[in-house]
Amino acid sequence: AWNFSAGPAMLPTAVMERIAEELPDTNGSGMSAMEMSHRGTAFQAIAQATEADLRDLLDVPDDYRVLFLQGGATALFATLPLNLANGSGRADYIHSGHWSGKAIAEARRYCRVNVAGDCEPRGFSRVPEAGEYRMDPAADYVHITPNETIHGLRFPELPETGGRPLVADYSSAILSEPLDVRDYGLIYAGAQKNIGPAGLCLVIVRDDLLTGAREDTPSLMDLRAQAQAGSMLNTPPTFAWYVAGLVFQWLKEQGGLAVMAERNRVKAGLLYQAIDDSDFYRNPVAAECRSLMNVPFFLADPQLEGRFKQEAAEAGLLNLGGHRAIGGLRASIYNAMPLEGVKALVGFMNDFERRYG
Ligand code: PLP
Repeated sequence: AWNFSAGPAMLPTAVMERIAEELPDTNGSGMSAMEMSHRGTAFQAIAQATEADLRDLLDVPDDYRVLFLQGGATALFATLPLNLANGSGRADYIHSGHWSGKAIAEARRYCRVNVAGDCEPRGFSRVPEAGEYRMDPAADYVHITPNETIHGLRFPELPETGGRPLVADYSSAILSEPLDVRDYGLIYAGAQKNIGPAGLCLVIVRDDLLTGAREDTPSLMDLRAQAQAGSMLNTPPTFAWYVAGLVFQWLKEQGGLAVMAERNRVKAGLLYQAIDDSDFYRNPVAAECRSLMNVPFFLADPQLEGRFKQEAAEAGLLNLGGHRAIGGLRASIYNAMPLEGVKALVGFMNDFERRYG
């Protein structure tokens, strides 16, 4: 079966096999990774190798810290204003879909949010053009969601921030292609799409932004305190961290992020082509803003959606329902989804159209 879930999502088969093999005895320690003390030498070695491999993959500069936090990306929605909005107390957010909407709603509880660009009036079909942003020059940071998991919308170019730190929720596109960490003050990503098991949130943050959080910030959300404690203010999700390390090793074995980007372009291209070649399927996003990871699509006859999902599942194509916020259908094709899986989906779509179109 091929699993097209938006997250928790497929892991690479080779990683699943390695987890199974090492489960009772990881790295010759006589313990499973999930049984290790996080402060013991066996787990410390795993944590260090995981960070080193991630730094390698993304070419993370030395003046950026890598953190492995808990609470998913949603915890960061509050962590960001608590830590970063302590100058003017104002922040710019670009509203490009469901998840940036959630980030905005949470940030509003802790700081003054200026929505500097809003894609909602255009049905989230494209991101703002350079001249359309209305930034607050005094804002402490600018927040974007480079890839919107539900609307399948991505930023082909980053907004100009006038030197203010750009903060990015990369949950559904991290490690899918190379990126220049230096373009960002802070990058965060929930793990359950391209990294590993849910619960973990990867944070890459520039040193100079770790100036300390607001007084009343819960300690676990204080980025400077977490950085000083090596992300171990309390017991971290050790097993998820270990699996993230295996995924990073797998990515390096594949040839790194440039290789993944090429594979991802081919997979997404095939799927969008199948949609665009037909009047039976439709994707509303402007071509240059289409996500390479999440491909939402709609049927000309929405009555057929239930049948599509049921027959797809019978054919081993799982979790193709769109998010409940927008309905329709969606195929998430993260790094772990091979071309073969996308070809199987396209074959099914063509066949379904022949039968019902
Ligand atoms: N941001 C984006 C872009 C997402 O896709 C998701 C979840 O799918 C989240 C945030 C929320 O992540 P979590 O459930 O890990 O808090």
